[in-house]
Amino acid sequence: MSASTIHLPAVDVPVLGEYEVVVIGGGPAGLFAAAAAARAGRRTILIERYGFLGGAGTMGGLSTFCGLHARVHGEDVRVIRGLADELLDRLDRLDGLSVPHLSVADRIMAQAFDISAYKIAADELIVASGAELLFHATAVDVVMEGDRIDAVVIESKSGRAAVRGQVFIDGSGDADLAVWSGAAVERSEHLLYPSLMFRINGVDAAAAGPAWQTIRRIMEEAEAAGTHTFPRKKPIVRPQRNPLEWRSNLTQLSNDDGSAVDGTDVRQLTHGELQGRQQVKDTFAFIRERTPGFEESYVVDIAPQIGIRETRRIVGAYSLTEDDILGCADFEDTIGVNGWPVEAHVPGDVEFRFADPGSRGYNQMPYRMLVPRGTANLLVAGRCASMTQRGQSSGRVTGPCFVMGQAAGAAADLALETGRDVADIDVTTLQARLEAAGAYLGRELPSPEMSVAAEYAAAR
Ligand SMILES: Cc1cc2nc3c(=O)[nH]c(=O)nc-3n(C[C@H](O)[C@H](O)[C@H](O)COP(=O)(O)OP(=O)(O)OC[C@H]3O[C@@H](n4cnc5c(N)ncnc54)[C@H](O)[C@@H]3O)c2cc1C
Repeated sequence: MSASTIHLPAVDVPVLGEYEVVVIGGGPAGLFAAAAAARAGRRTILIERYGFLGGAGTMGGLSTFCGLHARVHGEDVRVIRGLADELLDRLDRLDGLSVPHLSVADRIMAQAFDISAYKIAADELIVASGAELLFHATAVDVVMEGDRIDAVVIESKSGRAAVRGQVFIDGSGDADLAVWSGAAVERSEHLLYPSLMFRINGVDAAAAGPAWQTIRRIMEEAEAAGTHTFPRKKPIVRPQRNPLEWRSNLTQLSNDDGSAVDGTDVRQLTHGELQGRQQVKDTFAFIRERTPGFEESYVVDIAPQIGIRETRRIVGAYSLTEDDILGCADFEDTIGVNGWPVEAHVPGDVEFRFADPGSRGYNQMPYRMLVPRGTANLLVAGRCASMTQRGQSSGRVTGPCFVMGQAAGAAADLALETGRDVADIDVTTLQARLEAAGAYLGRELPSPEMSVAAEYAAAR
């Protein structure tokens, strides 16, 4: 009675619209890609499966920007500029941005944000750019004409429809458009492990003190004493802008065989959600019982979905590597920079690897990592761009995803203007336009005003 497949008849679907630039996914990469393309005057649509923007930053409950900063010859500098300046300003005006804090053994800065404020700031950024937004619409397929995407097929409560475009930008995080259009993609044998984020409220900040150190220590002591086993070492539990509230990044989601939950497998995703919430329950009970200041605390929010770090990546014209990160590589076709260390989520632990202390502290990111092989009118930005797994272990965080997104949007505009394929645009012109829009490409050392010390001294 049950066959392994069923045949769906072909159907005609309505064309919802025709655009110059179609962006799938409203995470940091897709958000900036759509804003940049629309700012350049292109008729642009941003299609997002949820009802809000921000990607893992909101749906995954991150509440911290990593990769906005680099430690340049010992000085902490915000190296991600351009549209990022505007987004941070909008967040700040909403009172939703903390001052940067030292992270990862005090070797690099990160910056916490309020998740609700981020949703609003991202809405405002897109609306102000002139891009059209389509929420609650999931891309499910593409229609090809030779090696070009003609339309993306979407599903929503309004039914199935097609959205036509001239240039497409894949900000899905999973390289969805790349796969469906036949571009070259790869996946690692051992994926980085996902986590389910949660936030704790009702913390007595004075009593808690630097509890981000205490919690790590008492978890390690409990494991050493054999009384507890936790899903992962190096927990991150830190205060938000209002220290009544703390974010928690300490779960690790695996299948029964120990492999990482795969964000492109619906059964594994389901298992990960269930497992994640059990880990939240168990680890929070431990923290509340053992940590001064947490006695009256409670879980105020579990992220809408588990956070996926890695699935498919394109194999593009260049793949960013760990050596590029640790060696502070330069590229002729730089579109921006990345100063985050390699952050590998391996079984039961997180490994960090940094460029040498005292080094320039950032690598440039080449335009070629956005250019897939096999699909002529597609750019791929964000965590599924062309990087080796170890390169992606650094380049996937928000700062470099902002860089890739802004560059992809500007490149789509340039391809349309010159009638060229995205692989053949004049990168010198792209670089000039990115710099004119305020982006920092790392071709000279950052100016003194870009240092965190100068930025916050000026703000006071
Ligand atoms: C648990 C966890 C913790 C992390 N912690 C941090 C941190 O503290 N700081 C930091 O900077 N980075 C952190 N990261 C890294 C984070 O993944 C990246 O910063 C970033 O969000 C990746 O951006 P992206 O735009 O490539 O993809 P995503 O953020 O994954 O966004 C993809 C977007 O596309 C949408 N989408 C996907 N498929 C479709 C489709 N078919 N149709 C329509 N919409 C679609 C999704 O809904 C989503 O909005 C963390 C990641 C995880 C998983």
